[in-house]
Amino acid sequence: MIVCKSPAELELMYHANQVVATVRDEVVARVAPGVSTGELDAYAEARVRELGGEPAFKGYRGFPGTLCVSLNEEIVHGIPSTKKRLAPGDILGIDLGVRLEGYYGDSAITVPVGAVEPEVDRLLRVTEASLRAAISQCLPGNRVGDISAAVQRYVEEQGFSIVRDFVGHGIGKALHEDPQVPNFGDPGVGPRLRPGMVLAIEPMVNMGAPGVEVLDDGWTAVSVDRRPSAHFEHSVAITEEGPWVLSLAEQSVAASTLGN
Ligand code: MG
Ligand code: MG
Repeated sequence: MIVCKSPAELELMYHANQVVATVRDEVVARVAPGVSTGELDAYAEARVRELGGEPAFKGYRGFPGTLCVSLNEEIVHGIPSTKKRLAPGDILGIDLGVRLEGYYGDSAITVPVGAVEPEVDRLLRVTEASLRAAISQCLPGNRVGDISAAVQRYVEEQGFSIVRDFVGHGIGKALHEDPQVPNFGDPGVGPRLRPGMVLAIEPMVNMGAPGVEVLDDGWTAVSVDRRPSAHFEHSVAITEEGPWVLSLAEQSVAASTLGN
């Protein structure tokens, strides 16, 4: 069942997502060689709580962190650790979920650590642009398949591959609600988009093969060929006026390229 939110509920979801956006971008600003993913996680948890929210991932099916931090070949769900330090040339996926006033917000970004190889930089830009293509399909009357197809078409045109083992999702009073939002599929199929729906759209793009393997920690998903992978996510409300990107930080440099 897909839950449509009232305008008042969308406002609350905007609040939750603005905490996500603020903390996400503050974490991004702290990404540097030598910093550990555990330090970034401790910072994020303290800031989420300071802003009145609760980390959404911490304790979710036993996940230990506030952030999912996914380095290089890690696709999603990497576990923060004070032993894992960033090095120049790495890319780091940062995924943050927050609960505030009974509603969830969810967003992710992948950033370079210092200078990265040109092809790795292109992977980041293509993945971010595929999210932008997805958001432009978030119009009443369109279908979920239109979002899926927009991501797949753009990414495959650019010569990269779509991860199929994980998908985007509805979001609201629960972190994961219906519908599922795959990053692949045909246009014109799936549930019809209606005002009040909120979707967490999250393309995961591999430089090489699309296959996924989960490491022995039970969480960290890596590309099967160990080549780099990128992940971007926004929580987007469907409105009569067009897509409302709830997790876009209006004044954030990191997120400004995702504005419409
Ligand atoms: Mg997320
Ligand atoms: Mg999500």
